[in-house]
Amino acid sequence: MAHFDALIIGFGKAGKTLAGDLAEGGSKVAMIEKDPMMYGGTCINIACIPTKLLSHDSLAGVEYSQAVERKNNTIPKLRDKNYHNLADNDNITVFDAEARFLNDKEIEIESQNGAVQQLTADDIFINTGAVTALPPIEGVDSDKVFTSTSLIEETVLPHKLTVVGGGYIGLEFATMYNAFGSEVTVIVPENGLLLSEDTEMAEAIQQEMENAGVKFVFGEKAEALEDVSDSEIKVTLSNKDTITSNAVLMATGRKPMTYGLGLENTSIELSEDKSVRVDKHLKTNVDHIWAMGDVKGGMQFTYTSLDDYRVVKSRLADDGAYNMESRAHTHYTMFVDPPYSRIGLTADEAKEEGYDVAEGKVDLSGHPRAHVNNDLRGLSKSVVDKASGKILGAALFGANAEELINLVKLAMDHDLPYTALRDMMYNHPVMSESFNGLFNV
Ligand SMILES: Cc1cc2nc3c(=O)[nH]c(=O)nc-3n(C[C@H](O)[C@H](O)[C@H](O)COP(=O)(O)OP(=O)(O)OC[C@H]3O[C@@H](n4cnc5c(N)ncnc54)[C@H](O)[C@@H]3O)c2cc1C
Repeated sequence: MAHFDALIIGFGKAGKTLAGDLAEGGSKVAMIEKDPMMYGGTCINIACIPTKLLSHDSLAGVEYSQAVERKNNTIPKLRDKNYHNLADNDNITVFDAEARFLNDKEIEIESQNGAVQQLTADDIFINTGAVTALPPIEGVDSDKVFTSTSLIEETVLPHKLTVVGGGYIGLEFATMYNAFGSEVTVIVPENGLLLSEDTEMAEAIQQEMENAGVKFVFGEKAEALEDVSDSEIKVTLSNKDTITSNAVLMATGRKPMTYGLGLENTSIELSEDKSVRVDKHLKTNVDHIWAMGDVKGGMQFTYTSLDDYRVVKSRLADDGAYNMESRAHTHYTMFVDPPYSRIGLTADEAKEEGYDVAEGKVDLSGHPRAHVNNDLRGLSKSVVDKASGKILGAALFGANAEELINLVKLAMDHDLPYTALRDMMYNHPVMSESFNGLFNV
């Protein structure tokens, strides 16, 4: 039975970075990936990169089929580069195979041609990601029902698209397919959009999406799906209304990929949501087994997976001083148009936590750079603790929000007072100079 210093299941962001790092230090590493079309993981093959490429092209006015073609030309190059980054390293063996635990020590891998072998390792890292959680509704197996993975493989733009789910994947897809020219309706089970966001920000996002042509149905669930012709599918809602379109995107959340892994053969504990339970160093309850990325639960982003690698590295190489408790504020961006980014608390959340808050707000229509860009859309809000002067949160909806949020994160992570962003000399004319006003609370 072949033995390695480290065995990584899944070519995800944390796993591939850790593999390179360990190999650099002389460790013998096994990387097991079940799908050769997934070398490099979810982000580069089916998620962040292809969807943001399509989103970019949709807003630039590129025709759908051409954008899909550009995606199809770009992604294999990234995949190939990712594969060779690991496979060309003498200390790393990439196994083209599916892994499952036989027990806490042994992993069985089965390649696509059916060949099976067993491996052991000093440390085992589970980095198997997450997959779309499809609700068990009638008709969900229709060929006109898509996930985020399968829809972007379509070369013909659906004339009408129904999106089931109003989370960030649903809204990003609604934005881009609408921009490509589809008639898009989003079915949101809640009685409003983005209920965990500041209400004014959520309303601003909804307003911009509606201005662009996206329609919303709130407070209803998709109960059944039914093909009504070769090219049409009907969605029946909980109130029995129906929506007919050419394609349905199920943007119904993503669940940790823990099944098929043979975890029932081990003593590894799962959390209630079936993610792998880990401690602050990302160790499972079995001392030599770790879990990183989406599979360990919590926020599902490429940069959180990359940061999981930093947590593991800190424990492997040192005393684990950098761990999940020291991870500061996790920000996020929704690539709607314009983009929306958020960090920390909303004003309501901060008040609930007992803070006496001061709030800043900037309507970007008055901002010089917005006029330069000929794009007057957008709103920014900040939340500050009056007592300490600390920034508690910010929400940015406008051009470059996906970049600007990192500046707020830097200030928050390093406990800079809000006055640091308020009084900074920014260059001009740029979007970040709006922080002079945003933090003038
Ligand atoms: C449509 C969409 C858009 C997104 N956009 C963004 C974005 O803009 N920014 C962002 O930060 N995040 C985004 N995300 C989230 C991001 O893609 C994920 O959080 C991230 O890729 C997860 O990485 P990971 O390290 O957990 O593992 P993954 O990259 O998911 O890798 C897991 C790998 O494990 C393999 N695997 C699974 N089971 C086995 C097994 N038994 N044996 C062997 N191999 C196995 C899988 O084939 C896969 O390659 C998006 C997600 C989606 C779906």
